[in-house]
Amino acid sequence: QFGEDKFFIQKKDLAIRHKFFHKFSHKGDFGRVLLIGGSPGKVGAILMASRAALRTGSGLVHCHLPGSESSSSLVVAAEIMAVADSELEMLDNFDAIGVGPGWGIQNDFSFFESLLNRFRKPVVIDADGLNTLALYPHLLKLLPLQSILTPHFKEFERLVGDCSNHLERLEKARSFSRKNNCILILKGAFTSISLPNGKQFFNSTGNQYMATAGSGDVLTGIITSFLGQGYSSENAAICGVYHHGLAGELASVSKKRGMIASDIIEAIPETFVQMQ
Ligand code: AMP
Ligand code: MG
Repeated sequence: QFGEDKFFIQKKDLAIRHKFFHKFSHKGDFGRVLLIGGSPGKVGAILMASRAALRTGSGLVHCHLPGSESSSSLVVAAEIMAVADSELEMLDNFDAIGVGPGWGIQNDFSFFESLLNRFRKPVVIDADGLNTLALYPHLLKLLPLQSILTPHFKEFERLVGDCSNHLERLEKARSFSRKNNCILILKGAFTSISLPNGKQFFNSTGNQYMATAGSGDVLTGIITSFLGQGYSSENAAICGVYHHGLAGELASVSKKRGMIASDIIEAIPETFVQMQ
C-alpha cells in the first residue's frame, strides 16, 4: 500500500480473492458467459476473448457475432457456442457478458442500449464497446452497477478527453469510476484499477512483450470468465489483470518478442498452478 488509497497487487493478495471449486462442482457452477463482438475482418478478437474465458475456467462460453442470422453455420471453435441475433432474447441465462473486442464502432446504438437495459448484472466493456460509449455518452447512465471498463490510454482519452500526463490520467480514472459507479481498468505497463470508492490498485505482473495485437482481448475474456464464476467485480478485475500479466510473463519466457496473444491464452492454466 502507498498513500491512503493506493495499493500494489501482489501474489499474496490474490489468495483471499479467489474462489475454489470442489469435486462435486458442475459446469453450471463455473458460469455461462457471453462474449459479444467481432465484425468482418475482426472476428479473431472475439474468438480470443472467448478462448481466454474457457482457459480461465468458464463452464460454458457463448459468442455472439452481430449480424449472424443463424447459429448453425457458425463454428467459431470446438468448445465455443455461437449465438445468433434471434437467440439473444434470454440474456438472463448468462452469468456475465463481455462486449467490444473487434465489434466495430456501432453507428446504431440501439442494440447496445437494449443490452444495457435488459442485463442487470455487471458487464465488461472493452475496445469498440468503449469507443461506442465515447460516441454516445448517454449510454454510460445505463451501465449496470459495478460494470468493468478496460480502456487503454487512447480509448480512455476518447471517453474523458486528452490528458497531458499519467497523473492526470489516473485522477480522471478515479473520478470517472466514482461518477459512473463502475470499475475502470486503465491498461498499460502498470495497469491500474480504479474503484468507485476511490481506491486504486496497481498491477505488478506483465511485460513489454504483451504489447501485441489481441492482448487486451484476452484480458476481456479472463475478467468476464471470473465474473461468470461468481466473483465480485472488484475481485474479477484484480484477479483478471494479475493472471493476464502472469500468463504474459510465463508465455514470454520461451517466446520473447515472438509472443502472440494466443500464447498468452495457452499460458493461463499455468497461472493457476502457480497460485497453489
Ligand atoms: P490492448 O491495447 O487492448 O491490446 O491491451 C494491451 C494489454 O497488454 C493490456 O492488458 C496491457 O496492460 C498489456 N500491456 C501492453 N504493454 C505492456 C507493457 N509494456 N507492460 C505490461 N503490460 C503491457
Ligand atoms: Mg484492445
